[in-house]
Amino acid sequence: MSRIDLHVHTAYSDGDRSPSEVVALAKETNVTTLAITDHDITSGIAEANQAGHQREIEIIPGVEVSSRFQGKETHILGYFIDPSHALLQTRLSRLRATRDTRIHDMVMRLQRLGIPIRHEDVLATAGTGSIGRPHIAHVLLQQGFVQSVREAFERYLAEGAAAYVERDLPSAEDAIAWINEAGGVAVLAHPHTAHVTDSQLERLCRTLQAAGLRGIEAWHSSHSFQQTETYRALARKLNLIVTGGSDFHGRLKPDIQVGIGRGDLCVPQEIVEPLRKLAAPPASAPRG
Ligand code: AMP
Ligand code: ZN
Ligand code: FE
Ligand code: FE
Repeated sequence: MSRIDLHVHTAYSDGDRSPSEVVALAKETNVTTLAITDHDITSGIAEANQAGHQREIEIIPGVEVSSRFQGKETHILGYFIDPSHALLQTRLSRLRATRDTRIHDMVMRLQRLGIPIRHEDVLATAGTGSIGRPHIAHVLLQQGFVQSVREAFERYLAEGAAAYVERDLPSAEDAIAWINEAGGVAVLAHPHTAHVTDSQLERLCRTLQAAGLRGIEAWHSSHSFQQTETYRALARKLNLIVTGGSDFHGRLKPDIQVGIGRGDLCVPQEIVEPLRKLAAPPASAPRG
């Protein structure tokens, strides 16, 4: 049975597989359409395109932009963005700069807590891509300060934990506008992480829809069947499209596989065409 997966991370953000490796894994689970959605960066798309071409997998250029809405970190997926859009790249590069500052400050905090990890080691783990807390977790684990990534987050890195530092983030409305300006389709990622009631989620979606949001991620490795049904119903009610994906991260989330999530993920193929349609400008639209 062929599948699609519209949410994966590569080593360009906090995944640990190269784009080609992620594409190879997608082939193994019969994925025919794959969206690359790294945090605040699009650098993995070119390599994924090449690998996708070789393996006959359609690659949708994507991004997962970190933002804040009503005080909470909110992730906005952008599909079919133009990676060569200069203003989008300027914006993403500024957004990554807030990651650099924050990770540096968190390493300083850890040092003050008596955990002598070095900033250089965290930078080396992140490589050239977008740095994040998982890279600190990896160094803590490697150097024996914690026994698992989970422990690293619980003790030091999660919101409210000992070494946590808040990050400067754009508003969700701005993130949506950036995606739209770059020709993309903006979708609310993993709505369960908002931790709100159904009626609050409806209000949240209506507000973001007015700012240009076009869809909701209904299928996700961490959504129950019931949650997926709830998000699909909300999307129908608000006339939003639905998307879905595994949110694959490699070893960071070892129980999640490309295409199949924790084994039972099944994102319907039919959702790709409505997404594609929204991305394509209407044939009669004036150009320029
Ligand atoms: P950052 O982008 O630096 O704010 O780090 C957030 C990333 O860390 C998210 O994208 C998740 O993939 C990951 N993350 C958050 N909490 C945990 C956790 N408890 N265990 C493993 N990964 C986590
Ligand atoms: Zn991540
Ligand atoms: Fe996310
Ligand atoms: Fe993600």
